[in-house]
Amino acid sequence: MSTDAVSAETPICSAKGCRAAAVWVLAWNNPKLHTPERRKTWLACDEHREHLSQFLGVRGFLKDVVTLDEWERRSAADG
Ligand SMILES: [Zn+2]
Repeated sequence: MSTDAVSAETPICSAKGCRAAAVWVLAWNNPKLHTPERRKTWLACDEHREHLSQFLGVRGFLKDVVTLDEWERRSAADG
Protein backbone atom coordinates (compact mmCIF):
# COMPACT_ATOMS: atom_id res chain seq x y z
CA MET A 1 0.00 0.00 0.00
CA SER A 2 1.29 3.38 -0.98
CA THR A 3 0.08 6.38 0.98
CA ASP A 4 0.70 8.81 -1.87
CA ALA A 5 -1.26 6.97 -4.53
CA VAL A 6 -4.33 8.71 -5.83
CA SER A 7 -7.20 7.21 -3.92
CA ALA A 8 -10.81 6.73 -4.90
CA GLU A 9 -11.80 8.22 -1.55
CA THR A 10 -12.17 11.99 -1.43
CA PRO A 11 -8.66 13.08 -2.36
CA ILE A 12 -7.16 15.72 -0.10
CA CYS A 13 -4.44 18.23 -0.91
CA SER A 14 -0.91 17.02 -0.02
CA ALA A 15 0.20 20.39 1.34
CA LYS A 16 1.04 20.37 5.02
CA GLY A 17 -2.01 21.11 7.15
CA CYS A 18 -4.32 21.57 4.18
CA ARG A 19 -7.63 19.71 4.24
CA ALA A 20 -8.99 21.09 0.99
CA ALA A 21 -10.19 18.73 -1.72
CA ALA A 22 -7.52 18.07 -4.31
CA VAL A 23 -8.10 19.34 -7.83
CA TRP A 24 -4.63 18.76 -9.27
CA VAL A 25 -2.24 15.86 -9.53
CA LEU A 26 1.48 16.60 -9.58
CA ALA A 27 3.39 13.70 -11.08
CA TRP A 28 7.06 13.59 -10.13
CA ASN A 29 10.13 11.42 -10.14
CA ASN A 30 13.31 11.54 -8.11
CA PRO A 31 15.99 10.10 -10.42
CA LYS A 32 18.13 9.16 -7.41
CA LEU A 33 15.38 6.95 -6.02
CA HIS A 34 13.11 6.02 -8.89
CA THR A 35 13.41 4.45 -12.29
CA PRO A 36 12.69 7.00 -15.06
CA GLU A 37 9.21 5.75 -15.87
CA ARG A 38 8.10 5.66 -12.23
CA ARG A 39 5.67 8.39 -11.16
CA LYS A 40 5.04 9.53 -7.63
CA THR A 41 2.01 11.72 -7.14
CA TRP A 42 1.12 14.62 -4.94
CA LEU A 43 -2.34 16.05 -4.78
CA ALA A 44 -2.99 19.75 -4.65
CA CYS A 45 -5.92 22.09 -4.19
CA ASP A 46 -6.09 25.21 -6.35
CA GLU A 47 -4.36 27.24 -3.66
CA HIS A 48 -1.35 24.96 -3.26
CA ARG A 49 -0.77 23.80 -6.82
CA GLU A 50 1.81 26.48 -7.50
CA HIS A 51 3.60 26.07 -4.17
CA LEU A 52 3.94 22.31 -4.52
CA SER A 53 4.87 22.58 -8.21
CA GLN A 54 7.67 24.97 -7.34
CA PHE A 55 8.92 22.71 -4.56
CA LEU A 56 9.26 19.82 -7.01
CA GLY A 57 10.27 22.02 -9.93
CA VAL A 58 13.36 23.55 -8.30
CA ARG A 59 14.59 20.03 -7.53
CA GLY A 60 14.00 18.94 -11.10
CA PHE A 61 11.52 16.30 -9.98
CA LEU A 62 8.33 17.64 -11.52
CA LYS A 63 7.14 15.78 -14.61
CA ASP A 64 3.53 16.69 -15.08
CA VAL A 65 0.66 18.68 -13.61
CA VAL A 66 -2.81 17.60 -14.61
CA THR A 67 -6.29 17.86 -13.16
CA LEU A 68 -7.45 14.98 -11.04
CA ASP A 69 -10.11 14.20 -13.63
CA GLU A 70 -7.53 13.99 -16.38
CA TRP A 71 -5.22 11.86 -14.22
CA GLU A 72 -7.99 9.38 -13.48
CA ARG A 73 -8.88 9.22 -17.16
CA ARG A 74 -5.25 8.42 -17.98
CA SER A 75 -5.02 5.82 -15.22
CA ALA A 76 -8.18 4.17 -16.48
CA ALA A 77 -6.74 4.14 -19.99
CA ASP A 78 -3.60 2.44 -18.68
CA GLY A 79 -5.78 -0.31 -17.28
ZN1 LIG B 1 -4.08 22.79 -0.32
